[in-house]
Amino acid sequence: MTNPVYQEDAYLSTMEARLERIEDGGRLIFDRSNFFASGGGQPGDTGMIETADGRQIAIADTVYSDDRRDIVLLAPEGAEGLTPGEMLVLHVDWKRRYKLMRMHTACHILSVVLPYPITGAAVGEDESRVDFDLPDAEADKAEVTARMMEVVAANHPVFIRWITDEELDANPGLVKSANVKPPRGTGRIRLVCIGEDGSMDTQPCGGTHVGETQEVGEIHIGKIEKKGRSNRRFRIRFGPLPAA
Ligand SMILES: [Zn+2]
Repeated sequence: MTNPVYQEDAYLSTMEARLERIEDGGRLIFDRSNFFASGGGQPGDTGMIETADGRQIAIADTVYSDDRRDIVLLAPEGAEGLTPGEMLVLHVDWKRRYKLMRMHTACHILSVVLPYPITGAAVGEDESRVDFDLPDAEADKAEVTARMMEVVAANHPVFIRWITDEELDANPGLVKSANVKPPRGTGRIRLVCIGEDGSMDTQPCGGTHVGETQEVGEIHIGKIEKKGRSNRRFRIRFGPLPAA
């Protein structure tokens, strides 16, 4: 079972790991991984791995194995010359991942500003979207942007806390997602918290986030779309709100 070290330290852009197994089609499984495996609306990491003699092999995507026990780094050019047991250096494409961490945190901030059930979300490096069950409310791009930027500027801490399945059952209000249940089976649930003691926001999430809200930087709501009778899709983009 791969140890997903990004769950405890999202900032570990480079580290050494032991190659455990090579599967057909350049699928590489390590003892531990700083590469995030695609899930929960956040895309898998890209980057490269480096051998002891300096050879570099591109990683195009990162996914879970079918049984979700292992993290699989996809090397489209193949794994020629690699041997199970050898130590390799895993370099995450940090420029891309850091943007994803900022964007992912921005999605949580949007859910603080708009406390409605979430029906879908997708994190992207240039744009993210969050869908809310929000029947009749008139949402204003400038107002939502300003309220998000207040949370960013206040520089609240963002941190991880683990609870048991039973603790989650006792606090069903923690789950903001209307149709995605937090993964069960390991007996513990990972919570992402914003603010002192998680007072601003606390919800189950397996993704990678920045350590304090200020790191998100300038963001704005680029678009609000109506998706069905009671669904509103909000698109988050980097940079200031363009002049109307
Ligand atoms: Zn998250």
